[in-house]
Amino acid sequence: MVTGTASTQDDLRRLNRARLLRRLHEAGPARRSDLVAFTGLNRSTVGVLVSELADAGLVCEVAGMPGQVGRPSLRVEPIAESAVVVAIDVQVDSTVIALLGLGGREFWRRDLEHSRADYTPKVALKDIVSLTRQALRRAPAGAVLVGVGIGVPGVVDHADGLVRFAPNLGWSDVPLGDMVRSALASEFGSAPYVSVSNDADLGALAEHVRGVGVDSRNLIYLSGEVGIGGGIIMNDRPMVGAGGFGGEVGHMVVDPDGAQCRCGATGCWETRIGRDALVRNGGPGLAAEDVIAAAAAGDARAREAVDEAGRWLGIGLANLVNLFNPEVIVLGGHLRLMLPLVTGAVYREVHHALPAAREQVRVDVPALKGDSTLIGAAEAAFEGLLADPISVIADQASAS
Ligand SMILES: [Zn+2]
Repeated sequence: MVTGTASTQDDLRRLNRARLLRRLHEAGPARRSDLVAFTGLNRSTVGVLVSELADAGLVCEVAGMPGQVGRPSLRVEPIAESAVVVAIDVQVDSTVIALLGLGGREFWRRDLEHSRADYTPKVALKDIVSLTRQALRRAPAGAVLVGVGIGVPGVVDHADGLVRFAPNLGWSDVPLGDMVRSALASEFGSAPYVSVSNDADLGALAEHVRGVGVDSRNLIYLSGEVGIGGGIIMNDRPMVGAGGFGGEVGHMVVDPDGAQCRCGATGCWETRIGRDALVRNGGPGLAAEDVIAAAAAGDARAREAVDEAGRWLGIGLANLVNLFNPEVIVLGGHLRLMLPLVTGAVYREVHHALPAAREQVRVDVPALKGDSTLIGAAEAAFEGLLADPISVIADQASAS
């Protein structure tokens, strides 16, 4: 038997409590026996950990699993009303905010359109604070706010929430994390855990935890917006590079003779498959969604634009397949809507990837539909709680 010092035993207990709550948050209610099998701990230890989480108000035990036949056994479930997060998806033309509880239940959401030309960091901050205030008014009585998660279409230093470069918003070196923390602290007295991340990284996280990638260890998520961001998960871990700025697949140069990109380079992938390209070629003045709908309805110009974007989509995907050997590539944003119309063209191009890698990949749409980034922002906001549940709840209780 291995014995450790008090502190390593405390650390171990904290880790096991965290694993158990994460399991319940991500995969939903479970019998104690499932938790014993999942953690590899003995029954009485699991019992103690469950009691500690129940004392903190985070989980409860109720009789019977849904659909269960025979003698009912107790199931442990996360209490959605106990801990909540505010998730915010800042897009180029709109901002979406939602209030979600432990286990992922959505209590409230709102979509707010804005004009990209006027969406300065100051205006965005005002929106974020006012929407957070509105969200918290809808929070269940007694719920503890444990985090605010924000997704931004740009290059973000995840450690401090500095938006280094968001070309399609026209932002550079915006300390969004610090701005939100200090604004929330002056609004509410204390600031919760605030996380700012790249939108595609969050999309990848959400599809890996709750979407089409739950059974895949190697996944790439593409955010299909004005720009094309890439979130890459390899061996179950995010692959973000030395400074956290990797995965900017939209700026892969695929067409050196092509159009100039907002980043300053020429012929980036997003100049061929981004929303603006689709609109410019398929129906100026329309939204990308409308061009795709027109193409589906048989409009010749829209159809040609969608087919062309589909071909370029496949060309870039073939490169990603060769580079990363993913099991699944998930297409978000307008690419999700486009895929059914261009599946043939996409796979024709992907077929140019090396056989060993292309045989293992599937190109899919997000299970979370248009909400991958939003749900990913919520997951990132829950990180503080999931890393150390009891301390976070105790700290928040003493702060309020
Ligand atoms: Zn570029």
